[in-house]
Amino acid sequence: MSDGFQGYRSQLVETLQRKGIHDMAVLRAVATIPRHLFVPESLRHQAYQDVALPIGSGQTISQPYVQARSCELLRLTGRERVLEIGTGSGYQTALLSMLCESVFSVERVVELAKGAHEVIRTLQLPNITILHGDGSLGWRPNAPYDGIIVAAASPALPRPLVEQLVAGGRLVIPIGSREAQCLTLITRQPEGDGYDETSIDDVRFVPLLGELGFAGAD
Ligand code: SAH
Repeated sequence: MSDGFQGYRSQLVETLQRKGIHDMAVLRAVATIPRHLFVPESLRHQAYQDVALPIGSGQTISQPYVQARSCELLRLTGRERVLEIGTGSGYQTALLSMLCESVFSVERVVELAKGAHEVIRTLQLPNITILHGDGSLGWRPNAPYDGIIVAAASPALPRPLVEQLVAGGRLVIPIGSREAQCLTLITRQPEGDGYDETSIDDVRFVPLLGELGFAGAD
């Protein structure tokens, strides 16, 4: 897209490579999706810095490194169905749409869901469904998923999310307290309902609310 921001996107790609992102499809998606359209106009000049930014309704668009890392951890090949919990700005949703076959993204704040939908419609990304509701229980109607990304801090691993993964499916979720979490990779075992758990990075996300999230704050 020749929109005057290509140079900034390339610099962001270089920053992410330096920080250890190697998946070429993920880097291509970052080089393509216009992140400045997903942040408030007054913050556009910061859109390609590797930082989280406020997006209204007390929420944030996550740091590009963490978003790229989460996408990379799903090991997508272009053929998967992916569930994202916490659409927020819709930027990560847009990245995912370039990496898999279809993305279902759940957001509990209706204004954010509408805003994300609007930008995604403008960009004509065809394989995205934005859903309004509580994603702490996953989204059963469209399950199972090959991959799930939770973009909000969870007090524990919500069991329904594991149940909504295909055998061998991968789930990336920040688990911990409201203040600090560990980005965690859950891989469902090929048989039965067991799973393996790997700690990835220390992170700080806004809280997951809803039935299996943190209480209150509504
Ligand atoms: N990936 C987003 C990050 C948004 S921050 C981006 O790139 O912009 C996390 C989002 O999770 C917030 O928008 C918040 O409203 C949403 N959220 C919190 N709890 C939720 C729940 N139970 N179900 C769905 N969305 C939730």
